[in-house]
Amino acid sequence: MNETPPRVHAEIDLDAVRGNVRALRDRAPRSELMAVVKADGYGHGAVACARAALEAGASWLGTATPQEALALRAAGITARTLCWLWTPGGPWREAVEADLDVAVSGMWALDEVRAAARAAGRTARIQLKADTGLGRNGCQPADWAELVGAAVAAEAEGTVKVTGLWSHFACADEPGHPSIQLQLTAFRDMLAYAEKEGIEPEVRHIANSPAVLTLPESHFDLVRTGLAIYGVSPAPELGTAQELGLRPAMTLKASVALVKEVPGGHGVSYGHHYVTPAGGTHLALVPAGYADGIPRHASGRGPVLVGGAVRTVAGRVAMDQFVVDLGPGEPGVRSGDEAVLFGPGEHGEPTAEDWAQASGTIAYEIVTRIGARVPRVHLHG
Ligand SMILES: *Cc1c(COP(=O)(O)O)cnc(C)c1O
Repeated sequence: MNETPPRVHAEIDLDAVRGNVRALRDRAPRSELMAVVKADGYGHGAVACARAALEAGASWLGTATPQEALALRAAGITARTLCWLWTPGGPWREAVEADLDVAVSGMWALDEVRAAARAAGRTARIQLKADTGLGRNGCQPADWAELVGAAVAAEAEGTVKVTGLWSHFACADEPGHPSIQLQLTAFRDMLAYAEKEGIEPEVRHIANSPAVLTLPESHFDLVRTGLAIYGVSPAPELGTAQELGLRPAMTLKASVALVKEVPGGHGVSYGHHYVTPAGGTHLALVPAGYADGIPRHASGRGPVLVGGAVRTVAGRVAMDQFVVDLGPGEPGVRSGDEAVLFGPGEHGEPTAEDWAQASGTIAYEIVTRIGARVPRVHLHG
């Protein structure tokens, strides 16, 4: 961008996404890779990231909602796409007509997708989801025989084809957690039962980003990677992005709105939770706030690279802005200078993991919560 820099913007390096997809494919060489682009590609832009991931060898896309999957189709993306978070009355017919693969976790969903297939005059591609222990979506083991039996009957009537059998981990980000092996055992049992009943899935899958990185026996035919394709470590305990061979794709930058000298003892931002030190100091106003996804919990803690040094949010993060203390000397920072909130960390800037730590949350939430008011600028598209 050569023109005036925007108030705040997120640069998304699509070469980083491509490199991360290649690195993850090397980690799971016998499996296909699904790029999970739900929640607008974890805040990175779903369509641009989906295209980059497909260019680098992803063969599937995944979204939570059917609307997210339909938006990919509307953008002209034809790759196999699974969407899994359905509610009764959802756009089943649109999904069938758009050639989406749809997740089915219970009998109500199977009934609705069969009706939609009949109405569309087409066979719906469905993937049966097993709850192997997460206790969230998916079919409980005790209900699996009923769901599998109904799916086999629906295949016989021609309304559906079961293209996948799948599940999701609860604690893959805690290697060695006892639930992991229990879930794998339950998954193998539920697969074996469905296959004995005559289901012939194209893909069986359970691994998310942390499982891809730590648990090869979980890779099966397909791995579903979200956070790692954006270059962010799923958990500090698994290593930094760099240690995992990943490169963060998002850099969040703001243009400093104001630099001014203030006397000592001056309260800063709502509630005056920060007071300038005796002798006075210089304050810089960073025009990004919680409406842009900057966590208010990072008040007094969030790190920002301004004027060649990492400073800390002084006082409260407000809706649209926060303040940093540049110190008493010649500040070396002027309005219009760049403030980097987080990025790959290669030029001294903080990372999304640093903001997660400062706000008591996970890096998933830091990148995903960046608001709609923040323009995304895609590099290397
Ligand atoms: C979000 C999600 C994923 C991707 O998880 P990551 O940890 O980001 O790789 C995979 N599967 C399901 C069902 C999900 O909801």
